[in-house]
Amino acid sequence: MLRNRIVRKLGLTIIALIFSILVPLGLALDYIFSNFYKHSMENNLEYLTVHYAEMIEAHGGMMTGMMDMMAEMSSVDLIIFDKNGQSVKASDNFDPPKLSSLTGQHRISLSEGSSVRFEATNQSGKRFLGMAYPVAGINGYKGAIMLFSSIDTVTQTLKNIRYLMLLAGIGAFLVAVGITNILSRRLSNPLLQMESAAQRMAQGDFDIRVKALTQDEIGSLARAINELAGELKRYRDTRSEFFANISHELRTPITYLEGYSKVIKDGMYDSEEEKNKYLAIIHEEAARLKHLVQDLFELSKMEEGKISFNMEWMDLSEAMKNSLRTMEPKIKGKALELQAEIEPNLPYVFGDGMRMEQIFINLLDNAIRYTEKGKITVAMFRDQYNVVAEITDTGSGIPEEEQPNIFERFYRVEKSRSREYGGSGLGLSIVKKLVEMQDGTIEVRSRAGAGATFSIRFPINDPER
Ligand code: ADP
Repeated sequence: MLRNRIVRKLGLTIIALIFSILVPLGLALDYIFSNFYKHSMENNLEYLTVHYAEMIEAHGGMMTGMMDMMAEMSSVDLIIFDKNGQSVKASDNFDPPKLSSLTGQHRISLSEGSSVRFEATNQSGKRFLGMAYPVAGINGYKGAIMLFSSIDTVTQTLKNIRYLMLLAGIGAFLVAVGITNILSRRLSNPLLQMESAAQRMAQGDFDIRVKALTQDEIGSLARAINELAGELKRYRDTRSEFFANISHELRTPITYLEGYSKVIKDGMYDSEEEKNKYLAIIHEEAARLKHLVQDLFELSKMEEGKISFNMEWMDLSEAMKNSLRTMEPKIKGKALELQAEIEPNLPYVFGDGMRMEQIFINLLDNAIRYTEKGKITVAMFRDQYNVVAEITDTGSGIPEEEQPNIFERFYRVEKSRSREYGGSGLGLSIVKKLVEMQDGTIEVRSRAGAGATFSIRFPINDPER
């Protein structure tokens, strides 16, 4: 259907275009040719008439044999009139309408020295152009010579030319229709392919690809469709992986909750102490679930672009100090040392104070969780273009090959010990998104067993500082 529509539309447009060019062009050429032939015939006849009149004047008359020869050589018919307008001689095989005398008007014009031009038709319907010229003698007007040339030869030539032009026009038209057909098929075939690819994609087949051979707009549309298919496939794969991860993360705490609550419900414990131990596990697992759900909610808001930022010029060191105050009990609880090296008077950065605290608390929480002994160092300083915040710990560290993955959702380095450390596996991906949404960057430097440093940079845009 689509192909038909395009072929038809394009075809009709081109046919209309060709007609609008060919028809006026043909008419103009016809007009030019007709005029050209008519004029050249008239000029020729005039030239001959004058020439023969001069000859008669020079020789004082014309011999019949000479007259016939000239008529044959020039393909004209000749007739000579005397002073009174009576025909004297006519060339051999005279074809035009036989005139025995000149009409009154023609005789007057000729005797006054003017030439005469007229058209006439003979008995068999042949058309002639006639031209008469006065012949002068010693005593003035002596008579006239009249030449006839057949118009039908010119008409026939013009007919032939018209026929040729018509043939050329039909040929051009047929070639144009053929080319249009090929072109429109070339145009519609890839479009049809793309249409069917889009339909397959709508049915969930993202492996489909369109052949994008050309470098024009159609080729780039095909490439865009292929990219779209690739993106959709990636999106579907990560979404399925995401759901698989979520159900895995939810299943473990729910199993714990179910198991321990059943133990308590059925009174399957020996002492109050044992019962409290189970209740503490239930509490811990419920807290873990709450944390996971909160992180998931946060992440989905970010991915849908629904998270709002209260952006303003702010002192990043204030956000860090607040975060340290919040996390201090945890640091102390694990008997870790805390060292803070915060440069005074740091330039302001453009960001949301609460979101900055969320970032620092997440990173401090990780540093505490993955460090058993030693210290946590917080450094803040400026480089040429940024304010830099670094959180360093002396904990388990991250092997180099794992470092590119830790910002992915649910990625954990030590999968087997993840319950022991706690956390949702979403912390760093949330941190990275929050940093980037405020024009910052985050990187990690670490070695397995030798602690880790997370560096965050926010650009200094404040021209005053
Ligand atoms: P989690 O909730 O598991 O901590 P994150 O997204 O915050 O999830 O971190 C991803 C993984 O990166 C962690 O599981 C851990 O293996 C590793 N990681 C993050 N921070 C540290 C750190 N300070 N020291 C060592 N490993 C870390």
